Amino acid sequence: MSTTAPRPHPRVRADIDLAALRANVRALRERTTGGAGLMAVVKADAYGHGMLPCARAARAAGAAWLGTATPHEALALRADGDTGRLLCWLWTPGGPWREAIEAGIDVSASGIWAIDEITAAARACGLTARVHLKADTGLGRSGCMPADWPGLLAAARAAQAEGTVRVVGVWSHFACADEPGHPSVPAQLAAFEEALEAAGRAGITPEVRHLANTPAALTLPRSHYDLVRAGIGVYGLSPSPEVGHPEDFGLRPVMTLRAELASVKRVPGGHGVSYGHRYTTPGETALALVPAGYADGIPRHASGTGPVLIAGKWRTVAGRVAMDQFVVDLGDPALAEEIAPGDEAVLFGPGDAGEPTAEDWARAAGTIGYEIVTRIGARVPRVHHGAEERV
Ligand SMILES: *Cc1c(COP(=O)(O)O)cnc(C)c1O
Repeated sequence: MSTTAPRPHPRVRADIDLAALRANVRALRERTTGGAGLMAVVKADAYGHGMLPCARAARAAGAAWLGTATPHEALALRADGDTGRLLCWLWTPGGPWREAIEAGIDVSASGIWAIDEITAAARACGLTARVHLKADTGLGRSGCMPADWPGLLAAARAAQAEGTVRVVGVWSHFACADEPGHPSVPAQLAAFEEALEAAGRAGITPEVRHLANTPAALTLPRSHYDLVRAGIGVYGLSPSPEVGHPEDFGLRPVMTLRAELASVKRVPGGHGVSYGHRYTTPGETALALVPAGYADGIPRHASGTGPVLIAGKWRTVAGRVAMDQFVVDLGDPALAEEIAPGDEAVLFGPGDAGEPTAEDWARAAGTIGYEIVTRIGARVPRVHHGAEERV
């Protein structure tokens, strides 16, 4: 996407409220117990909110740590001048370990192959790598299985003796923390305790033990240990309706997605709307065209169900969401004279001006709020408001 083309009137834009993001970081910090620190997770372009401005705002609000999935994301934070503690956890053979170690990025290892590659990279650059050992306590994704854990601890211990590695973290990740009461949650806590005890017996005493994501940060103080890794809460969304509403925790949604109507027109009854004619106007009416489609992250699964605020009222996507646009039935032919091209449609936001929320779209599309905000497409400009001066 060109960065030089002037775009005074984006047809659709995502407004990002950095003051809300900072307040969310402070609210999450207040919730952490036992002196635990906060890691703001800024992977996936800060869940679609724009990584660099969000990372700076999170730091300004006291996030001692940042977290990313990929090394590319972590290195981009360093290139932006970030110098704080930063953990990156999604590694494949080849790293790039050396670049990460030289940039002072904390790395994660779930297996001996990773310790071997980290050790080789640390030797090559003459630095000590800061490593977090990841245990699979029941998520079944990355992480070292209990049977292999003693071997990983021994390999890390040997690398530590050599001076190429310092084990600064032991960590894991929850499978079902967003379903409070799920039996896997206490089981994972117990497995994590066992992994920590085994580490202690192997002579490994990490600086930070960390397990909690946003839902655990909000509902499970016992899981906070030394550090809480919060993603979705930083962006003001609740992990799930079961956990609660954002405002229950003093969180406020950070992204508002708006569009300018591209057309408003009167059509007769019986008019088929959008691909496949999945909607037919029940009578004479006015149709509005919203210039945002699945290329912009509007889920096609929300065809016929997605909510939009236009002229003070919730309306519903009529027929299929197309690649670049979707149609809304305004429900009254007279509105073709009252609502005009250029008028605003608010797809979602914090909800307090009557607009739908990302959670409403998640329900309409059969998904989660995480996916709604994270998939907003690259051609939707993120307009950041309320940035503090960089110090
Ligand atoms: C994405 C992620 C998080 C953040 O999860 P939220 O539910 O968004 O708070 C924490 N830890 C790991 C390992 C992750 O991949």
